[in-house]
Order: sequence, then C-alpha cells, then structure tokens
Amino acid sequence: MSQQRNIRVRGARTNNLKSLDVDVPRGQLVVFVGLSGSGKSSLVFDTIAAEAGHQLNETFPPFVRNRMTKWTRPEVTEISGLSPAVVIGQRRVGGNSRSTVGTYTDAWSYLRLIFSRLSTPHVGESNRFSFNDPTGMCPTCSGLGEVVVTAVDRVVDMDRSLEDGAVRLPGFVQGNYWYSLYADIGSFDATTPLRDWSEDQRQALLYGGEHAERLDPRPPKGFEGVVERFERIYLNTSEDLSERKRETLAQFTRSDLCPDCHGDRLNEESRSATVLGRTIGAMARMEVSDLADLVTGVTEPSVRPAVAALKDRLDALVTIGLGYLHLGRPTPTLSGGESQRIKTVKHLGSSLMEMLYVFDEPTVGLHPHDVSAMITLLRQLCDKGNSVLVVEHDPAVMAAADQVVEIGPRAGEHGGALVFQGPFSELGAAGTATSVELSRTRRPREEPRTPTGQVVVADACRNNLRKVTVEIPTGVMTVLTGVAGSGKSSLARELVNQHDAIVIDQRPVSASRRSTPITYTGVAAPIRKLFARRNGVAASLFSANSEGGCPDCGGTGVIYTDLAFMDGQETVCETCQGRRFTPDVLRYTVDGLSIADVEDLTIEEAIRRLPDRAITKALSHLDKVGLGYLRLGQPLSTLSGGECQRVKVAKELREASTPTLYVLDEPTTGLHLADIDTLLGLLDDLVEHGHGVVVIEHNLDVIRHADWLIDLGPGPGRHGGRVLYEGPVTGVGDTPTGRALREAFPS
Ligand code: ADP
Ligand code: ADP
Ligand code: ZN
Ligand code: ZN
Repeated sequence: MSQQRNIRVRGARTNNLKSLDVDVPRGQLVVFVGLSGSGKSSLVFDTIAAEAGHQLNETFPPFVRNRMTKWTRPEVTEISGLSPAVVIGQRRVGGNSRSTVGTYTDAWSYLRLIFSRLSTPHVGESNRFSFNDPTGMCPTCSGLGEVVVTAVDRVVDMDRSLEDGAVRLPGFVQGNYWYSLYADIGSFDATTPLRDWSEDQRQALLYGGEHAERLDPRPPKGFEGVVERFERIYLNTSEDLSERKRETLAQFTRSDLCPDCHGDRLNEESRSATVLGRTIGAMARMEVSDLADLVTGVTEPSVRPAVAALKDRLDALVTIGLGYLHLGRPTPTLSGGESQRIKTVKHLGSSLMEMLYVFDEPTVGLHPHDVSAMITLLRQLCDKGNSVLVVEHDPAVMAAADQVVEIGPRAGEHGGALVFQGPFSELGAAGTATSVELSRTRRPREEPRTPTGQVVVADACRNNLRKVTVEIPTGVMTVLTGVAGSGKSSLARELVNQHDAIVIDQRPVSASRRSTPITYTGVAAPIRKLFARRNGVAASLFSANSEGGCPDCGGTGVIYTDLAFMDGQETVCETCQGRRFTPDVLRYTVDGLSIADVEDLTIEEAIRRLPDRAITKALSHLDKVGLGYLRLGQPLSTLSGGECQRVKVAKELREASTPTLYVLDEPTTGLHLADIDTLLGLLDDLVEHGHGVVVIEHNLDVIRHADWLIDLGPGPGRHGGRVLYEGPVTGVGDTPTGRALREAFPS
C-alpha cells in the first residue's frame, strides 16, 4: 500500500507519550520494550495501530464504518507509511460454541471438501459436513454436539419431603396451587422424604404419565410431573425467555453429550461416511499432530490442493506448539496464550501482503521450550513481506528482532520518550532500564522456607491429568511448571475446586467505567474530610454528585448526547470543562491543590502531598505493588491485565486475615524484568502474612525464587498430564524445565 520504507511518527502524545518521534522500519520484526507503564502500548496500539485502523476505516462507506470497531483518533502530529493493521492481542478468541479450532483456522473447510469428494458412501456437497449448515447438522442438537437436559438432582432433593421443600423450582411453595396439585391429591405423602417413597410415586411426581395412572387410574385433570412441567415451560418453548426465566433455566439444567451424534455434531449420514477408514468425527477428535501425519495418506489427485492446504494449517498449529489440540475443540475453552497462537496461525494462512501485524506479548503461556517456535512464526510473517511490531519482555524475542525500540526512561509521567533504537546487540551498552536488567543476575533462593502444613490434591483427572495426586505445601511459595498444554491450569483449577483456594487473575478489577483508584481504595471520604477541615466548610461540598458538583453535567464532567441512528456521544461539559465541580468549590485548596487537581495526582504524588494518614495508608498498598504511577482519577478500565492482577494482590494484602492459599496464573505477564523484583517482593509479602502462594510461571527467575516446584509433563495434551518432579527447585532433574534452568544459569 505504502511505498515508504518507514512508518514515520512525529509528535505522538497519546496517554503519557512526550511528543515522541520515531521511524519504525517496515517489512521487519521490531520489538518494543520498556518498563511496565512506560508507554509501549500507547505508542504501538493506541497510536500506530489505532491510526492504521482509522485510516482503513475512512476508506469504507459510512454505513459499513458504523459497523466496524471504532478507532479513536490518536493524539499525534504526523503519522505516515502505514498499512492495514491486524492486532493480535491476548483477548481470548471466544466466539460461540459453534466456533472450533477447526472452523477458526479453516482446517475444517478443507477436511469437509476432502470428505465430500472421497468419502464412502459418496455424499456430494461439502456443506453436508458442516455442522453449521442445516444440510449437515445433527437434527437433535442442531450441530452443537450437546443438548440441554434437566438436572433432576438439582430440581428435587431426595432427602426432603414435599413439605420441607423437596422440589426446588421457584413458585413451588406450600399452600400455592402448584404445590397442592401434588401434595393434596392423596397419591403422595407430603411429610415423607422422597427417598422413602415407592419408585412409582417418585416417577409419577417427576414425569407423570403412566406412573401417575398406576397410582390413581383417574389422575386429576391436567396432572403432569414436575420435570415434565419444567421442560414444557422452560425447555421446549419457542418463546424468548425473560432474564429471570433464563437464570432459572441455567440453575436447573446442564449440558450433556448429544445422545444421537455423541458430540460429532453431524447428521447420521455425514457422521458415518469415512475416508481412510475413519469418520470425520473421529478425525476431529484426533490430536492435530497425529491428524497431520494421517492426511498425508490421502493421495487422490482431485483433492490434492485441499490436502495441501489442510496440511499447511495443521503443520502451522504443530510448529506453534498447539499440536496437542484437536480440531473439534471449541475456541471459547482455549487459554489466552493458546488463543493468541491460534490467531497467528489464522493470519499465516492469509494471502494478504504488506500488512502491519501488531502483537501483544506473544510469549504469554509459553515455556522457554515453546518460545523459539513462536519466534519462527513471527519471522515467517515478516518474510511474507509484512511489518511485524511486537510488545514483549522476553529477551529471546528481543534477540530475534531486526530492531529493538525502548520507551522510557521509567513509567507513567517519567516515561513516554524514545530512549533506544537499534539492533539487540547494541542494547546491552545503552544504559537503559532494559539493558541494565539484561546484564543483571538474580540470586536463587538458597534455603527454602518452612511450610506451615500441606493440602493434598487427590486423583485429579481434569482434562489431560492422569489421576494426579500431589501435596502442595502451605505458607510458602510453590511454582507449577511444564510446557504449554501439559496440564498446569487444569491442576490449578483442581486445587481451587478441592480446597477453595483464591485465584488472583488478570481479569478487569471492576466492570464500572466510573471506578478509579479513588473509589477503589475508599479514599474519597478522607479526601473530602481533609478539604473540609482545612477550609472550615462542609465535606459534602467536595462530592461531585451532590451539592458541589457542576449543575450542568451533574458532576460527571461529560454531557451525553443521544443520537437517533448512531451510538450516543460523550462530550466534555462546557460549563466545568470536565472538572466536575462548581468554580466556588474549586477555589478551596489544600496546599495549593483544588479538589479537581487531586484527581490528576499520581498515587505516589498523593502520598507525598496529601497530609492525612487515612489517605496515605489506603493508597500505600497500590504504591507497594508498583502502581504508584497511576493517576487517582484514572478509570480502572484502562489498566492492563498485569496491572489488574497487582491491584488484586494489593487488596488481598490489605484484607485477608486468615491464612489463605492464592493461585496466580503467569503473574509476570506484562511485567518488565525490572518489575519482577516488585512482584517477587509481593509474593513474599503474602507468604510473610502466613498465606500460601501457588504460581503458574515460565519465568526462570520466578521459578528459582520458589520454595517448592511441581513440574508437569513431559509433553502437551495426552503426552503430558503427569508429575515429573515435586520437591525443592534445585533438585529438578532432566525435564524441559530442568534443562531450561541449567541452560539459563549454568553453575
Ligand atoms: P506500557 O504498555 O509500556 O506498559 P502504557 O502505554 O499502557 O504502558 O501506559 C503508559 C502510561 O499511560 C501509564 O502511566 C498508564 O497508566 C497510562 N495510560 C494508559 N492508558 C490510559 C488511558 N486510557 N487513560 C489514561 N492513562 C492511560
Ligand atoms: P497448561 O496450563 O499447562 O498450558 P492446560 O491445563 O490448560 O495446560 O491444558 C492441559 C490439556 O487439557 C491440554 O491438552 C488442553 O488442550 C486441555 N484442555 C484444557 N482446557 C480444556 C477444556 N476446557 N476442554 C477440553 N480440553 C481442555
Ligand atoms: Zn447431535
Ligand atoms: Zn459540568
């Protein structure tokens, strides 16, 4: 599209960027580094990718534009040399349960084509093998592979009598019509637990019909069993259910494998057709790496291009370390790291050229063992003539780059500038935060701490786990390791299930857009009191949504305009200029700061400048977890996954009093090497407070910091799911993890 050699950026000012200028070479692999919060995302995603998206958007007619993702225009003086951008972030693939690894990567459409040409009996059209098409889908489950059935054990409690609430359905209460229909007709004893009824009585209560007739030849008119009735109203209805009915439905039903297609999703004819003696359903259940070998056996000339294309997709999945998945796996069940890699495969198959690919930490979820495969894929994208920009903390990826760009020197307002640009070999001498970290070695833990006890995860069989039983020490730090897909998350989920451990994850802290560090830490009230005390006026004046707030915007700082045919628009309130308070209120100050100025302070500044113990104490936890650079009024919805996780750690440090077992999944995601010390300090704080910590992690410094190691493997999927080692970290033997440790830290 563009003939320019560089993407030229001048005067970028998005978020914390300090009028940054940079020329990013096109057609190369460029890795962006810097401390967390330094401004990498602001430059790469919020400026370069956003502008690329915006320019692409402009080329569409308004009707289409309204339907596309909205890109806000970045704050930048000049930007040129862009191509259409594809952002491959950590957001999970998601989609509905009709989306599978096979449909998502297009592998399924090639397999369908092969079946439609070659299968016996010969069936013709390839849509006959599509479970999303009426001609192919199983009529029983409509191609979902699962059916919703009543969970009878949740509908009735066999240990209770009707009077004691044996039937748990809403509205089934003593005295009302529905209840009397069963309790007062003489066929059932309302005071005896259902377990002690005769089989006929139980069946009649649940399903009515002939059982009811056997109890009473002329059952009351309109008699039906409770399950029968539930299914008539909730399941076998074509009406749209209300929100409340849907909740009831979810509460009393479960998904079961479809009794007809057993998960193959196809109608009888299509699911019995075979190629190489196997059905398409059997192929959908094979591991991708095995399927890749199998399809080389299809040699008929008429399908040669389809076989080649299918093999391409399958090989790409294997290369990227996802050979353990199967094509039938629903994409909503993939982990974040798996999602990101599968998106990469989808784009590798695309024939578009001169695109701009932007990656957010593609090594998330990858064992050092898998990282080199990811690097190979990034290089392949480049070699096809695309520009590849990557935000990454992993030194192996930096080393593979054509160019490294560092943003810094520090985080937040102390960052936002270009501090290094050049080949990785020159970064070492640059003296930047990243180069300092690269040359530093952390010391491993010498003496493991003493556990306070242990919990046992017994006979774990979830996903690929092979009846795993492990002892997890409490009161210390345990790390779970193993290649991607070996079963770490599955084991962690079993731990949570069997022992109510608490997960500290990277999901958003709060769903509300109005949530900020102020509301989250509860410092709003002490701040108001401080202003009231210093100025001798009422505290309520300093609350934007009561008397002190701007009357025109109701203290929100924005005016919301409803537009008839488009999304509503928010504009800054003209009266208060977004400052939310009346001018009278803004005249009151504390040490020169108005109440509105306080929202612009960073946490770290607020701790220094607001002389009030209640305020500094509440904010100190966020500062301690390394988030001192956030502004008090910054919406928490703008935080990255890693930042959200640290906010949650801060909350647990502040609140949890009884010893608890915490589970963290890759807490180094989004963290610069320099922040790893902060993280390790936090985990140690949790341990010092008497808590236990279990961490899924690939970072070798974090692994060496743990007191106890549980190493899963040896491979992914069915090649994994076993415990290779449990014990002190230093004792781990010849496993992928042991080898990676010895390679990185030769003793
Ligand atoms: P990095 O990607 O290097 O971790 P970011 O570019 O995400 O850093 O953030 C740089 C700075 O900008 C941080 O101080 C961050 O808190 C701030 N920031 C990021 N997004 C927003 C936003 N939407 N509104 C206000 N500040 C933001
Ligand atoms: P890790 O955390 O070590 O990367 P996981 O525990 O996520 O590994 O996965 C272990 C195995 O279980 C993999 O083969 C994965 O594909 C499979 N798996 C994980 N979640 C699901 C699921 N919801 N449904 C089916 N298989 C799953
Ligand atoms: Zn079915
Ligand atoms: Zn206003």
